[in-house]
Amino acid sequence: MAEKPVVESFQLDHTKVKAPYVRLIDEEEGPKGDVISNYDLRLVQPNEHAIPTAGLHTIEHTIAVLLRERIPGYIDCSPFGCRTGFHLLAWGRHSTEDVAKALKESLEFIASEATWEDVPGTEITSCGNYRDHSLFSAKQWCRDIVDAGISSDPFERKVV
Ligand SMILES: [Zn+2]
Repeated sequence: MAEKPVVESFQLDHTKVKAPYVRLIDEEEGPKGDVISNYDLRLVQPNEHAIPTAGLHTIEHTIAVLLRERIPGYIDCSPFGCRTGFHLLAWGRHSTEDVAKALKESLEFIASEATWEDVPGTEITSCGNYRDHSLFSAKQWCRDIVDAGISSDPFERKVV
């Protein structure tokens, strides 16, 4: 039998990181040379905090638009099951500083300006669990994350 694939994210020592941070997980090259980058957007400290589902869900819907506007080649941003952050996928290469700045702007917008008008897909027809949203929770968590500062390095605090 072939060897089991190694999943990079499970190799990371989650006790050594200092959230909030942006980390490049890896860059993969397709058969035609296109590059896809995968980032770890860690919003809260692993095994110390977890963003409650409703707030995380609202952040997910809202940053789907905000990060798309700010990161060229944006593909997708999906929450971790542990509720401490998101995977970000994008075409091409981007510095973690640029990604951290885009994330900071997006979370700052949610914390200070966002209204329900800015949260897309909250109807029964456009979401798989439309009852489970909280802009109140999203705003408070985003405020705390922005105030803590987002680092472009997972192990050393390099706040953008
Ligand atoms: Zn949804």
